[in-house]
Amino acid sequence: MPVRISKLELLAHTLDVTGGGRVLRSVRTWNGVLILNYHRIGDPANSPFDHDLWSASVVDFERQIGFLAKNFDVIGLSDLEHSLNQPRGQFVMLTFDDGYRDNYSAAFPILKSHGVSATFFIATGFIDCPRAPAWDELAWMLRTTTAASIAANEWLPSSVSLAESDRQRTFSRLLSVYKSLGFELTEPYLDFLADVLGTGRCPLSLAHDQWMTWDMLREMQAGGMTFGGHTVDHPILANATSDQQDWEVGECRRRLIEELGQPIDAFSYPNGQRGDFNEFTRAALRHYDYRWAFGFFGGYCPPGYADHFALCRRGIETEIDLARFRAITTLPQLFS
Ligand SMILES: [Zn+2]
Repeated sequence: MPVRISKLELLAHTLDVTGGGRVLRSVRTWNGVLILNYHRIGDPANSPFDHDLWSASVVDFERQIGFLAKNFDVIGLSDLEHSLNQPRGQFVMLTFDDGYRDNYSAAFPILKSHGVSATFFIATGFIDCPRAPAWDELAWMLRTTTAASIAANEWLPSSVSLAESDRQRTFSRLLSVYKSLGFELTEPYLDFLADVLGTGRCPLSLAHDQWMTWDMLREMQAGGMTFGGHTVDHPILANATSDQQDWEVGECRRRLIEELGQPIDAFSYPNGQRGDFNEFTRAALRHYDYRWAFGFFGGYCPPGYADHFALCRRGIETEIDLARFRAITTLPQLFS
């Protein structure tokens, strides 16, 4: 919906230029908890992996956190229950998903310097056995292949162009097929693509330095950061059986507790849309004593928000300039 986006863009910049945003912040037009979600911080320019995973440059992230610290009550995970129960107040919570290395090298120093905490949701399999996740591996395959197209096949009902001009669309298509597959079919699908594209699977050595180490997580924990589960292997849980879900939800928590020596009671759903988790997921979360589970479907949590296993989060992306970021936090009713 390009018209709606451009109107919002215009409004965001108008609020910024006219000072309307400052006025709205002073009269406080919303109450509740706005939870922001990041993945990677820095510059994707030289990475062979999925550039969409970058949420902000270092400079933008620094500005965003400075703005939040000055204008809002930036809360940590331990404040969440209290904050949700307040009838008034504008609370902002910061979260990161997956466990990328730049969370430690780029985000952590900035968070520390502003005296704010964030919660990092870790797919423990990436820390224990560093490898490229599917989205990064698909991006790497498309950058590496010399093939011109993929003919129609059992996975893809029509042929796929690999021309440079079609790459972004092709990437989206290949990834959406991946996300639609039952969990047990995801590896055969990647094996198939590795074969037809002639790239083979992404070498482990390329992905090794992408992920944080347990020592880094412990250092961040000592520095006031908190952690939550994000499964072991990052499946879309609704595509997995109840037994697979139970293991993914329980095992990531077990590894986090084993390595960090602290209780773990928060979880974020891989991919995080409302259809990406189901009753089996909720049952597993209850079974392992999680108190909170975070989605990725936008919005903010008004006072008294009751479904603690479907907390709203607003994703931050590199396209969001500071005017838009200010608008998201000033008027989340409209912008989140
Ligand atoms: Zn994730």
